Amino acid sequence: MTKPLWTSDDITLATGGVATAPFKVTGTVSIDTRSLAPGDLFVALKDQRDGHDFVEAAFEAGAAGALVSRKKGDGPQVVADDTLAALEQLGVAARARCGAHRTAITGSAGKTSVKEMLARIYRALGPAHWSQKSFNNHWGVPLTLARMPEETERAVFEIGMSTPGEIAPRSRMVRPQTGLITCIAGAHLEGLGSLEAVAREKADIFEGLEAGGTFILPSDDIFFEYLADRARDLCPTGNLETFGHAKDATARIVGYETDGVSSRVQVDVVGKPVLVTLDAVGEHWAMNVAAALLAATQTGASVSDCAEALSGYAPPPGRGTAERLPLPSGGTFTLIDDAYNANPGSMRAALSSLKQRGAGRRLVALGEMLEIGERSDAEHAGLAGAVVETGTEGVFLAGDNMTHLAEALPTDLQKVWAPKADELFNALENTLRDGDVVLIKGSNASGMGRLADRLRQWS
Ligand code: ATP
Ligand code: MG
Repeated sequence: MTKPLWTSDDITLATGGVATAPFKVTGTVSIDTRSLAPGDLFVALKDQRDGHDFVEAAFEAGAAGALVSRKKGDGPQVVADDTLAALEQLGVAARARCGAHRTAITGSAGKTSVKEMLARIYRALGPAHWSQKSFNNHWGVPLTLARMPEETERAVFEIGMSTPGEIAPRSRMVRPQTGLITCIAGAHLEGLGSLEAVAREKADIFEGLEAGGTFILPSDDIFFEYLADRARDLCPTGNLETFGHAKDATARIVGYETDGVSSRVQVDVVGKPVLVTLDAVGEHWAMNVAAALLAATQTGASVSDCAEALSGYAPPPGRGTAERLPLPSGGTFTLIDDAYNANPGSMRAALSSLKQRGAGRRLVALGEMLEIGERSDAEHAGLAGAVVETGTEGVFLAGDNMTHLAEALPTDLQKVWAPKADELFNALENTLRDGDVVLIKGSNASGMGRLADRLRQWS
């Protein structure tokens, strides 16, 4: 019998709540009855909907107990004042009882990518724990902590923000021994106004750094010096380590090559050269590899073990993986599905990596970048140069914001614009030929992912 993750006694002790009956949580912690499994603890949060409306459904699905702010139904539950505060307290209790090395990751792009890479390495090294998906917000961070089993040796947390002031409290909750910033780019300018304000906010990841911990920064970033100064101010006992192309970077990228579907990245970590292969294409993946190796070695593992564990990594769907698909008319085309999300930085990264996708005509299908604030028109138009540089022979654009890019592109470039992503399908269907490489990218809500799915089904 494995030890339960939580008992009702643990939960009342952590939250100051009152238990209606004793129970043991043999599963994990859940805030959503649709994914709840038998033995889980259901926490009734008030978010878009009031979780208290789902407590009975949670018990029907087999919940071992519930954490609520008012009793619902007859199942065993702990009643606390405020369920979000209680979830945070549970998270802090999980951290306090566990000796894991905690790595926290923030940045404008690449958080989930580096988190998934670290999760892969950490799993190979022993008992590991990691954030699911992009669970990086006010409930995602405490939920991930509250789910951490006591025997965890290595854990990695994604920390995000949508309004100012959110990173610091999340960092203090996690208290990482290692804090990492992937990059500073024009994501989520909304509410912050300038890139410098974004950099300042991201540096708050070091607010909660354990004394003597490590801050990991991108040596190539234009905000590198700024971030290093902020990190030293926030955590004077911390050690600075860097990744990137700089000569003195702790994890220095010394080689990158690709065949258009997978890549080989050579990194020199404190003088030790290692090679990592992965099923992803683009120089930004080399950065992510270097960042992940450097963070992983902070947990006491050797660089070669980390590199071996990371090799063979493939990102989850929608994050730039290439697939070779048959054409109904014969021959094949390469679909690069990067439709999980987009901002100006990741758009440029994806467009520039298109050059390295082997031979064949290039086609570019782009959906809108959402949530980028008042500079949105200029940021959309500003992609024109990067699009032209791909050498593309056809540009397919969807959504109102993309009219600005359509206008900024040279008149002799073949382009199609449609109000919705789906409506680009016919134009693509008529254009695609044997050997073509098509990049599909846009913010998740732009619907470009569905366009990629239609291309998969079509072939
Ligand atoms: P979110 O804020 O939505 O959680 P995220 O920071 O977790 O995003 P990822 O999901 O890892 O970011 O990556 C999103 C996209 O950003 C990728 O599909 C890729 O195009 C791009 N990207 C990944 N890594 C980097 C990087 N180091 N620099 C720039 N762009 C990157
Ligand atoms: Mg993410």
